[in-house]
Amino acid sequence: MKKFLPVFLILIFLTSCKAAKTSDSFSAMNTFMTVSVYAPAKKGKVLCKKIHSRIDELEAVLSTTLLESDVHKLNNKKQLDFPVNKDLLTLLDFSREINKQTFGAFNPALYPVIREWGFTTGNYKIPDSSRLETLLANTDFSKIIFDENKVLLEFGMELDFGAVGKGYACDQAIEILKSNGVQSALLYFGGNIQTLGTKPDGSLWRVGIKNPWNNDSAVSLKVESKAVVTSGGYERFFELDGKRYIHIFDPKTGRPSQNDLESVTIVCESGTYADALSTALFVMGKEKAVEWWKTHQNFDFVLLTKERALVYSCGLEKIIEPLIDFSYIERIDF
Ligand code: FAD
Ligand code: MG
Repeated sequence: MKKFLPVFLILIFLTSCKAAKTSDSFSAMNTFMTVSVYAPAKKGKVLCKKIHSRIDELEAVLSTTLLESDVHKLNNKKQLDFPVNKDLLTLLDFSREINKQTFGAFNPALYPVIREWGFTTGNYKIPDSSRLETLLANTDFSKIIFDENKVLLEFGMELDFGAVGKGYACDQAIEILKSNGVQSALLYFGGNIQTLGTKPDGSLWRVGIKNPWNNDSAVSLKVESKAVVTSGGYERFFELDGKRYIHIFDPKTGRPSQNDLESVTIVCESGTYADALSTALFVMGKEKAVEWWKTHQNFDFVLLTKERALVYSCGLEKIIEPLIDFSYIERIDF
């Protein structure tokens, strides 16, 4: 028996070191989140906890609804003093750049307009044109002054990082996992999916893009170490007199975005970039979105159009699989 004891202990040790799946699900940022980590069980548990508290920490800074958040304070007082929170500063920097690059289609300074329509408060209504014009006059993102010591908003300005916050949170979670030597993980933060490495057996992750016309998946993608982020108008909206008003807004008109797209999915390494672009390209509509991709080319996309077509960039050719009938399928080349 004595002879077998060390072998038995080694077996227990090896089993506890083996990458097992540890999952944690929780609600944060007004959405449902699931983290699945492949690591030795004890480590997996610790990392899931770490990620959950990092997400809570980010929400406490970025939320527009939590009274004590940095963004809430900024929106009320129009200024924040030293030291400006690092995550907020990173997102301000990033947003200024993407706002410029997308010719304003991505604009986290649109909050006064979005709130007027009742999003986040739930008091839905259709504002009149003159009210919208007044509010739109205070949505120029380039007018925000910020550095590590201060953030200054002009009178009437307010910020909302709803279009990019979950993507940033995914990137932060991936950083935690990578810096702890994890090679395999899957994050699901509402419409944001992010993968680290491959599945533990070395095969690619198979992720679905939601079917806007039904409650299943319309397309599947096989990916490795990629963010797959979708924006669409089919989940958050209100209806009045038979008309649907969605939560993604065209910053030029101050009205819910209305074009030929049902959803936009962006595939690239950065969750933050994918999140911002999924919103921006949704606002642009098919033709401008394709044009924008051709001039940038540092991501892939899947567009599901109102005429039930599937349009995708050539980089996805080998990993995309349609799961429903489309009116037509179009591959866009450089
Ligand atoms: P996305 O396309 O990624 O983003 C759309 C959202 O961005 C809109 O809902 C709007 O807020 C904003 N937006 C609309 N048009 C534009 C545009 N052109 N440019 C830039 N931004 C635009 N929701 C609540 O209802 N209550 C909450 O308390 C709440 N707390 C949150 C806290 C945090 C930290 C974050 C990041 C989000 C929170 N949300 C909350 C929002 C929610 O979780 C989603 O982020 C949001 O509803 C839309 O995400 P999406 O991925 O569906 O769409
Ligand atoms: Mg987005």
